[in-house]
Amino acid sequence: MGEIGDKGKPRVVIVGAGPGGLTCAMMLAYRGLSVTVLEAKPQVGGRNATLRLGPYVFDTGPTFLMLRQILDEVFEESGVATAEVLDVRALDPMYHLVFRDKTLKVTPDHERMRQEIERCFPGKGGRYNRFLVQEKQRFRRLYPCLQKSYHRFRTLFHPDMLRALPHLSLGRSLFDVVYGLFGDEDLALSFTFQSKYLGMSPWDCPGLFAMIPYIEHGLGIYHVAGGLSRISDAMAEVAVRHGAAIRCSAPVKRVIVKAGQACGVELESGERIEADEVVLNADFGHAMTHLFEPGVLKKYVPANLARKKLSCSTYMLYLGTDRQWNLPHHAIYFARDYRANVAGIFQGRMPTDDISFYVRNASATDPTLAPPGHSAIYVLVPVPNARSGIDWSQQGGFRETVLAALERRAGLTGLRESIREEKILTPDDWKNEYGVYEGATFNLAHNVGQMLYFRPRNRFEEVGHCYLVGGGTHPGSGLPTIYESGRIAANLISKQYRVNFTSKNLEI
Ligand SMILES: Cc1cc2nc3c(=O)[nH]c(=O)nc-3n(C[C@H](O)[C@H](O)[C@H](O)COP(=O)(O)OP(=O)(O)OC[C@H]3O[C@@H](n4cnc5c(N)ncnc54)[C@H](O)[C@@H]3O)c2cc1C
Repeated sequence: MGEIGDKGKPRVVIVGAGPGGLTCAMMLAYRGLSVTVLEAKPQVGGRNATLRLGPYVFDTGPTFLMLRQILDEVFEESGVATAEVLDVRALDPMYHLVFRDKTLKVTPDHERMRQEIERCFPGKGGRYNRFLVQEKQRFRRLYPCLQKSYHRFRTLFHPDMLRALPHLSLGRSLFDVVYGLFGDEDLALSFTFQSKYLGMSPWDCPGLFAMIPYIEHGLGIYHVAGGLSRISDAMAEVAVRHGAAIRCSAPVKRVIVKAGQACGVELESGERIEADEVVLNADFGHAMTHLFEPGVLKKYVPANLARKKLSCSTYMLYLGTDRQWNLPHHAIYFARDYRANVAGIFQGRMPTDDISFYVRNASATDPTLAPPGHSAIYVLVPVPNARSGIDWSQQGGFRETVLAALERRAGLTGLRESIREEKILTPDDWKNEYGVYEGATFNLAHNVGQMLYFRPRNRFEEVGHCYLVGGGTHPGSGLPTIYESGRIAANLISKQYRVNFTSKNLEI
């Protein structure tokens, strides 16, 4: 454990118990700081919380765990081994990709994957090796750039950045980069649909994100027994074990700022808590528009936020069914006209019945999620964010569109009759119930102008003694990068108070 330096025991208040806030909380608590986490909801986890419907257990949001070594590192730097608190399992197959005329079964076994590509796309198997070699290089060069803190402009000129430059594919989209490798549209989609993890279109997403399919194919994807929400639960347990206080149902009304410095928070209840450092894990856009008195912020004011590019949103269906389905753990179904489907989402149009969707049937491999003979089916449909102006209370028919697609395309005949529990989340729900700015579930878009130094930084530039963590901040929206945001903030705070600590990411 680290030692506190000459300034006594610093008091850190963390607003929000999502993955970013919890990472920061467990690391700082382990290092001996006084940590209080204030969470608006009755449970921890945020978008990564458990959703229970009767006997069925769902993840609210994240279902793919990538780069598990980052998770291992943040637990290790909080004094525990992941295996002590979680049962993490590699998935093989990783997922099925369902096109009009074929299904590609994606495996992390490179030889089997090459054969599978050859089966579905004759003559293209050899291109897979080129993809692996090229994108491994890109990942190795770019990931260290994501781990830096960027509170100084000069970090943009760090030697790692200069070494990464040839791998940025500036001016090229993810689709351009991957199509250039494979020369087939559907095969290119198999390695570019991952832009949806960032809530972006493959045709707009920067080419550098070709490292995401590499991360899957090169390093695997993982499930956690009990659901990925167990990660947040475990982080909260570890934080509390090291002395952190986690208070749920404790919504924060505002950050108290005096002379440009954060010095505490005021809860909705009227209670005030003093702090030496305030860490905001509430959704970035939501925090900027709700947690500061008018006049405090100059840069992230509503008019400027309105000009930011945002991710798309998601329409969610969580179905507890009294039948088991012959579906893999993860399956992605592409619209017949995928380009038109994606274009419509980003032009803010209500989807037609030619939707793309993702189905997760985790109870097929994890019996803890549904009773024997039953299934917990999670359906995610990418849709426009709330800037579209679509009033989802008037779109009740969309449920039918999704159920019909599940029956027709995923072969779930009899699904409707089997439903015992059900919950729907629309972009309006993300915005109003989950406090997600404009219902953009994957936060600010990841265009080059909103990344690294140009993304909201972990040391908040507008208010002193204030830090930002979570998907809307640097390095970005996905569990591993969110853990990095929590780690960067924890390391910056620790350094400020001269706490001794060891970290695999000392790029601050
Ligand atoms: C549908 C969906 C699927 C996703 N799938 C994946 C995936 O497969 N893999 C992946 O890596 N990532 C995925 N993500 C992205 C990302 O991992 C999650 O969104 C993640 O939960 C975001 O973490 P966060 O730290 O930004 O905080 P959040 O999860 O947004 O948590 C923020 C917390 O702050 C709390 N809060 C807000 N305001 C206040 C306040 N005023 N006072 C107190 N508390 C407050 C909220 O209640 C919430 O608990 C997905 C996201 C969604 C929505």
